[in-house]
Amino acid sequence: VEKINILNIPISNIRKEKFLHKIEEHFKDSTGNLFIVTANPEIIMLTKESKDYQAAVLNADYVLPDGIGVIIASKLLKQPLEEKIPGYELLHDLLAYARAAEKRVYFYGAKPGIAGKAAEKAFSQYPGLQMAGTMDGYSSKGQEAADKIAATNPDFIFVAMGAPLQEQWIATYRAQFPNAVLVGVGGSFDVLSG
Ligand code: UDP
Repeated sequence: VEKINILNIPISNIRKEKFLHKIEEHFKDSTGNLFIVTANPEIIMLTKESKDYQAAVLNADYVLPDGIGVIIASKLLKQPLEEKIPGYELLHDLLAYARAAEKRVYFYGAKPGIAGKAAEKAFSQYPGLQMAGTMDGYSSKGQEAADKIAATNPDFIFVAMGAPLQEQWIATYRAQFPNAVLVGVGGSFDVLSG
């Protein structure tokens, strides 16, 4: 996949449909895990302020352009990205795929009660969706959270703790999830649960 650098962050230049196909292929070939960042301008700016955060984002397999701001930046740089891939939209597409492919999904993040509510909403929108588990983003963090999630053996782990926490957590603990797809989804559980 072609990468276009915006403030030294390589953004994947790929249409959403093609990206979803890559996810399908990932589960067929099953070589390692995948870390996806949906980068909005706030995330890209944050990589300038923190070297640690920059390293976490550079650890991702795909940094996708979340929103029109990143597309506009790419056009100003005369290297236009093909299409925006909003994080919340991607979450829904991946849930639809997970349901169809019988992949198990974990929701980690947001205030107590929210991830569970979001999972209920997801199940009603994607009947038959297999939830591996849910956990809020405050009571359990770091290694402890990784151990609890790994014990449920999920195929998808959606981490909704906002930037920089979610990307730092995924970059640090991804090795514990050998074939999973890990995605930072920001405030998505708050939206989905509401
Ligand atoms: N959050 C969390 N743990 C924390 C801090 C934040 O789970 O220690 C959650 C917070 O409850 C909210 C989400 O992370 O659901 C961040 O949402 P925000 O809209 O700020 O993220 P953005 O989409 O702007 O990255």
